[in-house]
Amino acid sequence: MSDDDRFLFRGLWVWNGRDDGRIRTDVLVSAGRIEVVGPSAAGVARDARVIEEPDATLIPGLVDGHAHLSFPESSSPTAVEDTPPEETVFVTMHNARRMIDAGFTSVIGAGSPKLRSEIVVRNEIDAGRVPGPRLLASTPTLTATGGLNDTGQLHQQRDVSAIIVDGPIAMRRAVRLCYREGVNVVKLNISGDDFFPRPRGRVTTMADDEVAAACEAAGELGLIVAAHARSAESVKRGVRHGVTIIHHADFCDEEALDVLEAAKDRVFVTPTTSFYHGLLHLSHWPEELLEQMMVREAFEANVATHKELHRRGVRMLLGSDYGISFMPCGTNAADVGHLVRYLGFTPQEALRAATYHGGLAAGAGGHNPPGGGRPTFLWSRAIRPAIPTSSRTPTICWSS
Ligand SMILES: [Zn+2]
Repeated sequence: MSDDDRFLFRGLWVWNGRDDGRIRTDVLVSAGRIEVVGPSAAGVARDARVIEEPDATLIPGLVDGHAHLSFPESSSPTAVEDTPPEETVFVTMHNARRMIDAGFTSVIGAGSPKLRSEIVVRNEIDAGRVPGPRLLASTPTLTATGGLNDTGQLHQQRDVSAIIVDGPIAMRRAVRLCYREGVNVVKLNISGDDFFPRPRGRVTTMADDEVAAACEAAGELGLIVAAHARSAESVKRGVRHGVTIIHHADFCDEEALDVLEAAKDRVFVTPTTSFYHGLLHLSHWPEELLEQMMVREAFEANVATHKELHRRGVRMLLGSDYGISFMPCGTNAADVGHLVRYLGFTPQEALRAATYHGGLAAGAGGHNPPGGGRPTFLWSRAIRPAIPTSSRTPTICWSS
């Protein structure tokens, strides 16, 4: 669809991402932007091409709250850090196109292995030179020595995909350096991950004063803080110090659930349940390896935690580490179906997580208000299978 075209969508369903109902009305699209929504659209449509899609539903653009556009598609465990910066920029650029083609108009980065790859691609998208969603560029993961992504050892020198940070002074410096280079999001690894032999997911690796320093420095600079937090203690540390997006949260205890519930007006959670779905059904990894990683046990904990958080009204986002080899960028909308299937969301609740909550989270840093960038429009058929209520109808997205 050319940006120069004008379209009048006559009498289609429109849903704003937030309310319970949808309305049937007209929508005028001009030069790729939604110009008028409502009965007056037809009156100013002039020479616009009329499209009648009575079964189609117009919804806000999808937002992924935990994506890795800079991950190369490879099953090698060291591919992320071994890919040179130049190639990583191209990987990021190609994945940005896949995301917009799949109906995602905003993406919140969750760790870019090279500091400037998401930043430069975001800048190119903003300048209109390459296609892509509104991209909130992330730091590499900030992790303590021995923490998740610190894959180096004394006998070898590796350029790892994280910035290794110990102590609050070093943490402030790292956040300020990443700010200077242009990021929107600070990504912390507060806990380990069962993906690796150590530290495992229940181990908390980032000290309290380090998390505090990161959140304080980021807050002053208007950056969003997102955290990899699988252990109960990592969730509590993150939320108490002001992390906006908690990723995973699999092993919450009662106190961690309470802390999240008490902060539900300022915090968002990405359940990442699809990640386990991917490991079990898409990765084709040997059963032995899945057992070593305790995938089924973690999956059970994840589902129990997020069903409970959902019951308590904690806001969830789409995003489950898409970008890793068996869950390529562009397939992210499968999350909508998984929120319904595994966590008991209604289809509308899942779509609200995918749109309205994502838009709120993307604006949480104060410097990137949702809808503050240029609106984007696309005619997306990619998410059809993920929307049970309209599984046979095309969907149009606009930015949220
Ligand atoms: Zn991730």
